[in-house]
Amino acid sequence: MNVTIARLIYPDAPSGSLSGYCSICGDYGDTHYHRNDLLTPTSANLTSIFDFHHPHVCRFCSSIWREPKKYHRAILATPEQVLFPVISNESATEERPTWGRAIRALRRDVPRVMILTTDPKKRVWPFARISQGPTAWIYVHDPSRGLSQNVTIDLDWQLAALGLIEQAYDAGFSKPAIEQSLYSSHKQVQAVGIQATSILERDLAAIRGSAEFITALIMAQKTERASTT
Ligand SMILES: [Zn+2]
Repeated sequence: MNVTIARLIYPDAPSGSLSGYCSICGDYGDTHYHRNDLLTPTSANLTSIFDFHHPHVCRFCSSIWREPKKYHRAILATPEQVLFPVISNESATEERPTWGRAIRALRRDVPRVMILTTDPKKRVWPFARISQGPTAWIYVHDPSRGLSQNVTIDLDWQLAALGLIEQAYDAGFSKPAIEQSLYSSHKQVQAVGIQATSILERDLAAIRGSAEFITALIMAQKTERASTT
């Protein structure tokens, strides 16, 4: 059985009865649905998502497509579980852990699909890729940064970047200051102290511009300790 992104995201999808290739993911099977059952006159971005030579969509892609409210958000799916990591400061739950916790718990030897999005209006899961091992593909969709693409990250570097960014965030620096330069926030430099700031700034400067940095910046939240004090 092929591992596809849609299988990982929606493993228990109900079966249809049509045979052929899926016009979204290309998977061949005999439990597909009619593509036109999914489409409405307002469906957008179709030519970049469908191969219109094939009239069917597999049960996995169909099921995800039918539940945009659930699946137009951050996703980390493996054969073992489907998580919706939080990217805002709402309280985390088991199904919606922080990205840091989800990546820390992620087994490196299983296939996974990762999507990081800040825009619930856009359907980006068809563009995600599967990865396995110490590095991961992650589809990043953040219109405020003009970003919508797959990037590769080293998972351990990602955790290190996230830890560093959250340390600066906890210390009171804003995300724009963390992204540009901690020295851009004079008030905060005074509050934190010049020496502590320069150490943090030196470590941040070394990773700015990397895929791990930018994805960690989007994922970063104030830690529980910092947000309750
Ligand atoms: Zn499919």
